[in-house]
Amino acid sequence: MIRNMSQIDVKLGIQSILGRINEAFLSRNPVIKTKKPLLVAVSKTKPVELIAEAYETGQRDFGENYVQELKEKGTNPVILEKCKDIRWHFIGHLQHKQVNKVLKTPGLYMVETIDSERIATAINNSWEKITKPNKEPLKVLVQVNTSNEEEKSGVDPSNVVPLCKFIIETCNNLKLEGLMTIGKFGHDYSTGPNPDFISLMKCQKDVCEAFSWDESDVEVSMGMSDDFDEAIKVGSTIVRVGSSIFGYRQKK
Ligand SMILES: *Cc1c(COP(=O)(O)O)cnc(C)c1O
Repeated sequence: MIRNMSQIDVKLGIQSILGRINEAFLSRNPVIKTKKPLLVAVSKTKPVELIAEAYETGQRDFGENYVQELKEKGTNPVILEKCKDIRWHFIGHLQHKQVNKVLKTPGLYMVETIDSERIATAINNSWEKITKPNKEPLKVLVQVNTSNEEEKSGVDPSNVVPLCKFIIETCNNLKLEGLMTIGKFGHDYSTGPNPDFISLMKCQKDVCEAFSWDESDVEVSMGMSDDFDEAIKVGSTIVRVGSSIFGYRQKK
């Protein structure tokens, strides 16, 4: 079986990451009022057997960023049978023509990567058709390109409040839960906090002010295997951790 190739102990991985999340949360500056972080286990490229193993430890939130892979895993008999309460987070770039595929995945819980009015509208309309009559609105995050890198998706920080406003006012089938960033890789923490994390926290503050929302209610999804502790220290509420749980990935 594939898992012997990696020799990875997923259960231990989950436990260890949860321990570190808790530690970082307890050690952060008390002026930060965001809520306790949620672990999203990023399972991309990894087999469903490993997901089921993580699920057995109590892990419920899983992240995927390739549309076809999300669909295949979400409809896989092992997942449907053993992971009935799984909550999928879509964390990849979403194209218009793939919206239906993502939204039809059983267990889809949140789309973290809304970055335009156009895609928000498409998801809003599609969710209504797929879930009628009147299922709960779909949870979404607005993705922000905090590092201003051309190859990264996401809106510019200056466009966050307008896009949020658009979603709140015109997308009745979406529930805006907060913001997400990927950020630049390889920040040197000896030089200070990660500017991408600081930037996303600033966006969160802007959103809270614009809509009179409480900081403790608005999600901030940032931090991956290499830097989730640092992200939590400055306020992250959703960390997306892959390789530290499931082992190294082959590049697609
Ligand atoms: C792959 C991925 C992660 C997880 O990265 P690791 O470094 O393996 O923890 C988190 N977020 C996004 C958007 C990803 O694509």
